[in-house]
Amino acid sequence: MSRRALLAGNWKMHLTIAQAVELAQAVAAACADCRDRDVMLAPPFTALAGVAQALQGSNIFLGAQNVAWEAQGAFTGEIAPPMLIDIGVRMVIIGHSERRQIFLEDNAMINRRLRAALEFGLIPVLCIGETLEERESGATFAVLEKQLRGALHDVPPGQAEQIVLAYEPVWAIGTGKTASTEQAQEAHHFLRNLLADIYNKKLAETIRVLYGGSVKPDNIDALMAQADIDGALVGGAALQVESFKRIIRFQ
Ligand code: PEP
Repeated sequence: MSRRALLAGNWKMHLTIAQAVELAQAVAAACADCRDRDVMLAPPFTALAGVAQALQGSNIFLGAQNVAWEAQGAFTGEIAPPMLIDIGVRMVIIGHSERRQIFLEDNAMINRRLRAALEFGLIPVLCIGETLEERESGATFAVLEKQLRGALHDVPPGQAEQIVLAYEPVWAIGTGKTASTEQAQEAHHFLRNLLADIYNKKLAETIRVLYGGSVKPDNIDALMAQADIDGALVGGAALQVESFKRIIRFQ
């Protein structure tokens, strides 16, 4: 089963509007001939409108870094799904470890965000991953299972097929420490089997599972050569056009 690769850049809380627009234009130019792979850029909310304009006419997906679970209302600091759609967003990162760890988002909240995104037709990029302590104590698979089942609670198969899953070991994010290709493939294989158990084998074979955690030009090829790795969610290396370009052009 061949799944279309997705290379996604998470710009986190970086870049002014002008810097974001310039980087988006450079990535769009680098991607003009990307026909067999998808690319997504997730700027900070303040730069979404500018980047949307910069990406017009390109085939790059505009992404957001989070989404509220209600369509509108008294939710200070949150951004509703229709607002993102209004600005041109098509994908949304949900459950990033920084949201879980710093802003204490739990599986129930992530499930609400995910279901809202799906209801409104946004493609969720659902992040899950274990901490170093959890890995070292042998709890990796139990943690991944709890996070995945929690996030997918009450999500019907017809909607689940839209989801992109991102395995991001917390100990590898922004640390320069990448999971070995074997560790990443092992986790991805586990997650695909788990998706088959939650839904069915066909759906599990359809859903793209990205790897995230210090992806760089020098490790992308080996990661993408793994059977169950369908792309990458990239933080630091997505902020420089040259490194992100090389990641997009993985071999
Ligand atoms: C991320 O923020 O999702 C990420 C993987 O960051 P980095 O590539 O910098 O480790």
